[in-house]
Order: sequence, then C-alpha cells, then structure tokens
Amino acid sequence: MGEKRDQVLFKSRKSHRGQRYIEWRYAVMNQGSYRCCLCGSTAELTADHIKPVVNYPELAFDVKNGRILCEPCRLKDMLASWEEGKFERQR
Ligand SMILES: [Zn+2]
Repeated sequence: MGEKRDQVLFKSRKSHRGQRYIEWRYAVMNQGSYRCCLCGSTAELTADHIKPVVNYPELAFDVKNGRILCEPCRLKDMLASWEEGKFERQR
C-alpha cells in the first residue's frame, strides 16, 4: 500500500506536500535545532531541500537532503538557484 502511494507521489512532483512531507519537514527541523542554517534566524523557518526536488525527486523525503532556512534566505537561495539554472523554469 505504502509503495504504490510513493510511486504516485513521485510521478506527480507538485503533490509532494502530503503527510510524508509534513513528517520530513518535522525531521529536518529536529535535526537542525530550529535555526536558519544561513543566517541563524529563528523566525519564519521552513524546511528546504538542498538538492531541488525538481531534479532529485527521489530525495524529496530524504532528511539528509533537508536543511532549515528562514523565509528570506529560502527566497534568496531560490532566486540564486534559478539564476544558476538549477531549476527548470515553470509558469
Ligand atoms: Zn536565514
């Protein structure tokens, strides 16, 4: 049952925000002591994928591929990644 659901999740990349995503985010937050790993902020924290899920869907729920970023740092990093061409541009 679990495996089939995983396959569906990995096929539709945009729907990775399910229960597993919530658990992944929780695990990432726990391993990183609730601070932004770039600026040390403790406000507006989000769990970020080190390697973009767009390119590495198999790492979507890998805790080692997770890090804590605050929202401003996440946006900055995302823009930088776009400029480097790490992400596929999507509308
Ligand atoms: Zn930050």
